[in-house]
Amino acid sequence: MAKPSVISPIRHKVTRRFYEPLLLLHALSPIRGERIKSEILPDNSESNHIQLRRSFTNAIAYICAYQKGPDHVTAAALEKTSQGVVVWLSANASVEEGVVTFLEEILACVYRVVEQDSVEALHQEASLATQKLASMIVEFQAPRLTVYRAEIIKSFILPCQELMTDYVKSNGSRERDKSALEVNKLQQWLKKYFGDDTGGSTEPSLFDLSKACYDVRHTQYMKTISMFAGQGRTRHEAFERLYKLLGKLGKPLKSSKTLTEAATKLAQDFAQGFTVKTVPSSVPQPLPFRGKKEATIESIVHRMFSDPSKKTEFMDRLTSLVSREGEEMDSFLQRERATKTKVHAELLLIDHFERNSYNFLGQGEKYIGCSKPACYLCHMYITQHLSRYTIPASHNKVYVGWRPPDVYVREPSASTLLRVQERILLRMINLVREDLTSEIKSRNMRLPYHTDSTTGITTTLESMRLAQTDTPSIAYSGDLERSTPSLLELNEDAELMTSEDEDDQGGVSI
Ligand SMILES: [Zn+2]
Repeated sequence: MAKPSVISPIRHKVTRRFYEPLLLLHALSPIRGERIKSEILPDNSESNHIQLRRSFTNAIAYICAYQKGPDHVTAAALEKTSQGVVVWLSANASVEEGVVTFLEEILACVYRVVEQDSVEALHQEASLATQKLASMIVEFQAPRLTVYRAEIIKSFILPCQELMTDYVKSNGSRERDKSALEVNKLQQWLKKYFGDDTGGSTEPSLFDLSKACYDVRHTQYMKTISMFAGQGRTRHEAFERLYKLLGKLGKPLKSSKTLTEAATKLAQDFAQGFTVKTVPSSVPQPLPFRGKKEATIESIVHRMFSDPSKKTEFMDRLTSLVSREGEEMDSFLQRERATKTKVHAELLLIDHFERNSYNFLGQGEKYIGCSKPACYLCHMYITQHLSRYTIPASHNKVYVGWRPPDVYVREPSASTLLRVQERILLRMINLVREDLTSEIKSRNMRLPYHTDSTTGITTTLESMRLAQTDTPSIAYSGDLERSTPSLLELNEDAELMTSEDEDDQGGVSI
């Protein structure tokens, strides 16, 4: 049934109060703190099933987002029906037909595992399926994987290899120097898969590359890279990015394993098979401002405070922060007013499930998987939603071109739906204002830009830093196998997480 297309607007008074402080917050500091991780479930058999359903949903969202870029951010949710599982997909832009066909083929492969009734046949089919799914996913994800490979070759191989060569030169002559040996091994591995600094190599296939990156995820190679990525080290950012990109390249293999693992362990859930359906994307809309007097610093501050002394205090702080840029700030806000809004993929699905009162597959758990952690506003919207959806991971970035799910003029329950949206927005207005006030009080510097994807290295590196009381010595005594801890051993108790591991824990991904 086609939706009536005229959007019923939320009261201007409310949207203005929402977007005005949001614009200012975005101008001052578009990243609202560190990434928020998804909830970690307790370790028991019930939560193992919940975790598996989540990982399965995330893997589906991830494999469908075959290209980088905001339009391809994809969300997935599993509906339980009497005819089987409906896999719902939505994306920031429309879900392409090719994505649906691809997912149908993937799920047919998954279902062949579910259908097996003997344990032996099940495991045999699962093993075949894992291999088949891996190559299907790598092939479909080629546009994304090619970009990652090119980024490594173009920007990171040369500086990282140079630095490692220097390291080996200055440490390699030491007797029994394990670390120089490990660094050298890593150099050979990188050369094999990404070429040397002249770009010369017989280029491995994307599948071989993806598999190689998956295979090294828990090895000394990754530990060595994370050692070079340590705080304060020369070119540590290049190594940190290399670490993340290798994790991303290995992700198709991890996804294929997740899909078949779910097929073997959730056979009851999947017994009746799958159908793929999509939710249409939203139509871009201008921000709801009228006239030039809205969304100026003056108007924002005026509407935020009824108490004149608080208003003056806030304004003083703000001008001290942006004194020389005050005018620039206003013209920045004016430019930002041209941003078009969209309903993000995960909210499209929440809205669709709400309107139709669909049942989620996991009893009691309302879970939306996404190919990327939620943005600042989606995370806030889901947290404030009365229906208690599972709180997703978040990269905490503010996107001004965000809007809550649309309500249409002709729909029967339009006024109730609008009331619900307004209620959530009013709560969000308070939170955005609080955030803006504390931002100005703290006078924080802007956080350095981080990419939206969730990768494990920051956590890992933080734990390494915590473990280091002094600057570790690069020298080794060399006379005992377990002498002073080498740099390579420092973080061994902190299990290295690759991006896909962390992605398993929430509605997240690349
Ligand atoms: Zn969002």
